[in-house]
Amino acid sequence: MLTFSLCNNRQLVSIPPVYAYADDAIILCKETTDPPRIQKVLQVFGNVSNSVINFTKSTFMAITPRGQTKTTRFTNVNEMKVLGILFTPNIMDVIEINWKDIVKKIRFGIQRHLSRNLNVIKKVWHINTFILSKIWYFAQVLPIPEQTAQQIEKIGFYLWKGFVFRIARPQCKLSIKEGGLQLINVKSKCDALFIKYIVRADHSIDTLVFLSNYVSSLHASSMTRSLKKLTADANKFLEDTNIAPEQITTKLIYSYLQDQVRCLPNVQSKFHNKNWKKIWSYFKIPHIPSNWKWESYALINGIIMTEERKYMHHIVPNPQCNKCGTIDTISHRLTRCSDLSRGIWLWLQQKLNNAHKATNPNTNLRIVFDLDLPQTPHYFSILWLAMGFIYYMLQMQTKSLPDFIKELGRVYLQTDVHVRKKLQILDFLTEE
Ligand SMILES: [Zn+2]
Repeated sequence: MLTFSLCNNRQLVSIPPVYAYADDAIILCKETTDPPRIQKVLQVFGNVSNSVINFTKSTFMAITPRGQTKTTRFTNVNEMKVLGILFTPNIMDVIEINWKDIVKKIRFGIQRHLSRNLNVIKKVWHINTFILSKIWYFAQVLPIPEQTAQQIEKIGFYLWKGFVFRIARPQCKLSIKEGGLQLINVKSKCDALFIKYIVRADHSIDTLVFLSNYVSSLHASSMTRSLKKLTADANKFLEDTNIAPEQITTKLIYSYLQDQVRCLPNVQSKFHNKNWKKIWSYFKIPHIPSNWKWESYALINGIIMTEERKYMHHIVPNPQCNKCGTIDTISHRLTRCSDLSRGIWLWLQQKLNNAHKATNPNTNLRIVFDLDLPQTPHYFSILWLAMGFIYYMLQMQTKSLPDFIKELGRVYLQTDVHVRKKLQILDFLTEE
């Protein structure tokens, strides 16, 4: 921030602070007498420095009608872009126009990536990192209207393209250890950014209250609702957490707002006696390919499209397997569809037994179908192998044991050396 001042006939002529970013300078005026004074200062500065101000390229926008009373040589405009944000004299227009533009850009960004063959875990990562990142900058200074947040949420169609059964949206937004996919909640994150910005700037929510009252005086009902809710949330956050304004972070506000909308995964409310904390924690374990994790996650959540399930939802005329004619269930697909599948399943059980040494005949079924792993120091190897098996059986069109072993070997060779050490119990990986 620079401050210009100049001595003129022994009188100090000062102008408001100048905000300079790269080769752009912005001067925010409060008084109607400021613009002519700035013009004068710039002209005097030009005379002594031998530089000329280009008045056609230098624009002036009055935010209040009162500001228009004094005329200058600056070009009068009704909108101007400052640091990528379009400003007009009307706050409601500023909010609406900028958010509309962002939604358009997000839609365009998604269109370009629709054809990519990514699993849902990777898509979420892609949305969080590349697609939504565009909006965080704006969200700090422009409160997001409820409707815009809903429009952005429609990116779900990209996430679930080609799926008949899906994970409910609120579940997608839970953290991985809660059974979600860690998809960012657009509304909560935008609100958190805006609240943090305001509280950090004035150590209170006064600006927010002012903005809310001002917008309400404009009779902009939907935005008034959004802002009233935002003000109430901010207030409640400050009261409940009692954190000093300078220590407030977006992450703290976001997780507070997320707590208000937290839900249980569908499958967890259906089968509440399972150890869900343990099951979900497996999806956080690194060094297992995301393709493998995704198939296991889909299996655990019951969204795999078997012919039996399609039939129950009247999508196909019969529940039979396209390959062998028996009823197509998950367990059929994984363990019984053909001699080849049965062979792979028998081989897998041998390898699992070798790793856990449990004698209960159901142990392996529980590992693969429920991710219910026995207590063993080799749990990583067991999880790795089980997820690899689930992926292979659900994704590959033609299956054979040598091909499955080859696929495991391929992934093994791509993993870090220190991870390979953890997989030592799976001796077939190091044979040859
Ligand atoms: Zn079959």
